[in-house]
Amino acid sequence: LTADLEGLRGLPAETLDGHRMPLWVNTGLITDALRSLDRGAEGVGLYRTEVPFMMKDRFPSESEQQKTYREQLETFSPALVTMRTLDIGGDKSLTYFPINEANPFLGWRGIRVTLDHPEIFLVQVRAMMKASEGLNNLRIMLPMVSNVTEVDEALHLIYRAHVETLEEGFDVEMPEIGVMIEVPAAVYQIRELAQRVDFLSVGSNDLTQYLLAVDRNNPRVADLYQAFHPAVLHALKLIVDGAHAENKPVSVCGELAGNPMGAVLLMAMGYDVLSMNSTNLPKVKSVIRGISREWADNLLAEVLTMESGQVIASTIQLVLEKAG
Ligand code: PEP
Ligand code: MG
Repeated sequence: LTADLEGLRGLPAETLDGHRMPLWVNTGLITDALRSLDRGAEGVGLYRTEVPFMMKDRFPSESEQQKTYREQLETFSPALVTMRTLDIGGDKSLTYFPINEANPFLGWRGIRVTLDHPEIFLVQVRAMMKASEGLNNLRIMLPMVSNVTEVDEALHLIYRAHVETLEEGFDVEMPEIGVMIEVPAAVYQIRELAQRVDFLSVGSNDLTQYLLAVDRNNPRVADLYQAFHPAVLHALKLIVDGAHAENKPVSVCGELAGNPMGAVLLMAMGYDVLSMNSTNLPKVKSVIRGISREWADNLLAEVLTMESGQVIASTIQLVLEKAG
């Protein structure tokens, strides 16, 4: 089976009736990036920049960051690399920037931290832009957005960073900017958010945790963390429809995209890109190559009428097994 999956590397993720589904990867370390290319990744949908920050015992300097980002951009060029601005807080902390809160998942995390510390944000965005000189395959993505003001403020800082980068003599294009949809409020402002940026990407891990009010890391409530809960699926459908109504592409970069059953449903919903851990990519590709888009559409229509996440999950599992 492993040999079969390896053989898929050069083949497109295309259904039996010719629907192409771009499969991208999530990275953090440069080793993830190299492994991803081996597995036939077509781009990076989520580069978690907090990973290199966690390897240090102080904030990496602008030039250190530039070097780290350059490696990612060069490795994938000409394919696009979506760099997420620092997403600390919640379950991700830096020893040299402790955040102590009673409710870290509802607290100071992601864009909230960097908008309160524009100096951290500006250094990071300038480092990304400088790293992209001559390659121009950078996209920048904002985590944990819960209202439009955060996007407007972040865009303002990003334009400023671009001007400063040009003034320093770098010849770089303005990258495409995107927003992560991972807070329920963002689902209901999907069109307003889409109007402000170039692309959207769903963080289904956080979106599921916040929709269901279930800590994604708490084993005691793990059985309530249902990736296929009808509320999650309906939210995912609202997001893709809203993004497309504004003619903006939308991807999923949470774990659901790397789950073969999730990938089939997301494709049927109309998602433009699925971004996953490289380990899951060959399996997802092989499932997509084994079904038709029409079959996936019918499955989605049936699933969207169901009322229980457990029934949905076992139904999909069953039909996928039957389909081989
Ligand atoms: C997500 O929330 O789905 C996501 C991709 O981001 P992270 O897992 O890094 O929070
Ligand atoms: Mg997240």
